[in-house]
Amino acid sequence: TSAVDVAQAHLDRIADVDSQLRAFLHVDVDGALSAAKSVDDRRGTGEELGPLAGVPLAMKDVVVTKGLPTTSGSKILQGWIPPYDATVTRRILDAGLVMLGKTNMDEFAMGSSTENSAYHPTHNPWDLSRVPGGSSGGSAAAVAGFEAPLSIGTDTGGSIRQPAAVTGIVGHKPTYGAVSRYGLIAFSSSLDQAGPFGRTVLDTALLHQVMAGHDPMDSTSIPQPGPDVVAAARSGARGNLAGLRIGVVRELDGADGGYQQGVLDSFHEAVRTLESLGAEVVEISCPHFGYALAAYYLIAPSECSSNLARFDAVRYGLRVGDNGSHSLEDVMSLTREQGFGLEVKRRIMIGTYALSSGYYDAYYGQAQKVRTLIAGDFAAAFKQVDVLVSPTSPFVAFGLGERVDDPMAMYVNDLCTLPASLAGTPAISVPCGLSDETGSALPVGLQVMAPAMSDDRCYRVGAAFE
Ligand code: GLN
Repeated sequence: TSAVDVAQAHLDRIADVDSQLRAFLHVDVDGALSAAKSVDDRRGTGEELGPLAGVPLAMKDVVVTKGLPTTSGSKILQGWIPPYDATVTRRILDAGLVMLGKTNMDEFAMGSSTENSAYHPTHNPWDLSRVPGGSSGGSAAAVAGFEAPLSIGTDTGGSIRQPAAVTGIVGHKPTYGAVSRYGLIAFSSSLDQAGPFGRTVLDTALLHQVMAGHDPMDSTSIPQPGPDVVAAARSGARGNLAGLRIGVVRELDGADGGYQQGVLDSFHEAVRTLESLGAEVVEISCPHFGYALAAYYLIAPSECSSNLARFDAVRYGLRVGDNGSHSLEDVMSLTREQGFGLEVKRRIMIGTYALSSGYYDAYYGQAQKVRTLIAGDFAAAFKQVDVLVSPTSPFVAFGLGERVDDPMAMYVNDLCTLPASLAGTPAISVPCGLSDETGSALPVGLQVMAPAMSDDRCYRVGAAFE
């Protein structure tokens, strides 16, 4: 099959189902077909291309793409056409991947259901009345709904892992600094990290390998090469975990309530499976993980209030009230008033407050100390075990509209994913069963966490488990 045929088949699938899933904000038919044709032409001349050349991919709309609309799910960026490519975009195009379009997301990646998109919600392919998770819900739904075999998301507090879990696919948050943030529209710079989605662990590892690597354009990019995640996924595929020590995080085991029983049942069965593959399983306590949610919801809004100051009605996208009768300051505030959604405004206000003089030490400073304690819990745990496991999220996919009016009910979706975000350590979510507790059979995810720059362990365990 030619790359053009493969691209066309996926574009046809999008034309068939996306009116129901609504995973895409923008489909680039011409760009995809011409990228596919150039792969076919290069192959035709005998050129050796990489393993993903000609494979279609869907890109989260938070990643800038030269010449293609990029909104980060916000009205404030409507109409903005980036003049450059993110490093991640450049890398996937150079590897010959065929970008089908840009996917829906919670506005500026703030949310866990994709309902905070300023454009429309996305539907979960398993049950159209439910959310696909978030904030990378469009990228997850595109892969789960067979619109694309691979996609890219970003994860600040769980936005790759939680959507992967609730749509039954694989999603990995790389070690902070492993994948360049150059050209990612910033939400919380000390947490944001782009990563791959796929239907199998090996597919996901192949995309990871293309995305990762040092980039001088990002000052937090790690200057060493990362581990060979593709080899790890292949070695895990033999299903043998002999010699591996796995820790079950006591603080994330749901024993104190708050987790759905169907999620816990699938998780416990997953742990038994890991044991049957030869791993030694022990319980590990990470005493500060219980403070992750509180710390995250100070750090992330603080950084967002600073990052989103750049949307000033002058430089990008929307401009409201520029009719000669308003001052520059009025144009700025009218634009921000109309351009930002409710959740984004809530976070700008919380963050501005937490960073203000007199409160800084009590809030932001305190949250950073908690962050250090959480990193310390990981460091102590990884002296005893090779990886840590937990459910990816306490819940399966919930109904559209069910949690959107209650910020706390939305925030607890990320209870299990936040510790690795705060510590900057890698974590994968792999499907580990179905729960029919809420009426329909819905996927549950297993989270595997590893030390920084040991992303290969996530892939090895994930692949063995698959
Ligand atoms: N749900 C979390 C939030 O709303 C995490 C989002 C993310 O990882 N981008 O901030």
